Amino acid sequence: MAQLLSGKVAAAAWKEKIRNQVIERLAAGKTRPHLAAILVGDDPASRAYVRGKVKDCEEVGFESTLINLPATATEDELLHEIRQLNANPSVSGYIVQLPLPKHFDDKRILLAIDPEKDVDGFHPDNVGRMALGLPTYLPATPYGVLLLLEHFQISTESKHAVIVGRSHIVGSPMSILLGRNGKLGNATATLTHSKTPNLHEITRQADILVAAIGKPLFIRPKHVKHGAIVIDVGINRVDDKLVGDVDFERVEPIASAISPVPGGVGLMTRVGLLMNTLRAADGRG
Ligand code: NDP
Repeated sequence: MAQLLSGKVAAAAWKEKIRNQVIERLAAGKTRPHLAAILVGDDPASRAYVRGKVKDCEEVGFESTLINLPATATEDELLHEIRQLNANPSVSGYIVQLPLPKHFDDKRILLAIDPEKDVDGFHPDNVGRMALGLPTYLPATPYGVLLLLEHFQISTESKHAVIVGRSHIVGSPMSILLGRNGKLGNATATLTHSKTPNLHEITRQADILVAAIGKPLFIRPKHVKHGAIVIDVGINRVDDKLVGDVDFERVEPIASAISPVPGGVGLMTRVGLLMNTLRAADGRG
């Protein structure tokens, strides 16, 4: 049976460490980390994600602020809130919950966020820093995957990591982080996507297979080498149930370790955000 890479277990352990660091900070006279989130509209999934992030802040002793704008808010109104947060010294970092309603220009919004406070790590300044290995905020989901691997003491060095999906928020940064010369890097990273021919022939070479596709149960036994470590980033709603991009039931017997959905990477993404906010309390570096 494969080892279960439980996000619940790993997130609890990381949160305990973060909570202790907050206690130490406060004892040393430092500020309490403060995460703010802007939510535009009332998309139920986005509301649930933001609620989870606020709850996490409470658990680890961060301050949190939720700014709720109606779906009818204008881009100028959102930019006004962003400027306020940029200028507010009590806010360590903040996020604008995505997706935004269609009438917003996501790029313009993203560029308005002060990179020093961009704890989602999506600003081009921070993406560039990540690629160059400079101090920065790592995008929360790939960061969460690294924290999951670290918790379960899975080394990536000299392994072949195959990532399926090349989005700017998950697959691409995942391949950069796993391939770079640094902690939890030093893998040989192969980035695949919808134009990759004979995908299963490549994924079958993976010691570590990361699925970030957005297609329910896409990764099947034919994609997986015996003994592979399988990380399922996908979150898909099927008949009111959350399922991953990996066909867990059929892949689990082949894998040596596998992360479940739900209860896997989703919880670790939230830990990635907390880690970035903790860092932001002292400045990005
Ligand atoms: P995107 O839709 O932005 O990207 C999907 C990627 O998958 C694209 O690069 C696409 O290729 C690739 N792809 C699609 N079909 C195939 C195929 N048949 N074969 C190979 N590659 C394929 O998705 P995201 O990266 O934003 O999200 C991926 C999944 O992860 C979703 O289920 C999402 O809900 C989930 N997610 C989970 C998070 C978490 O916290 N656990 C956080 C963020 C996302 P191409 O570029 O060629 O189109």
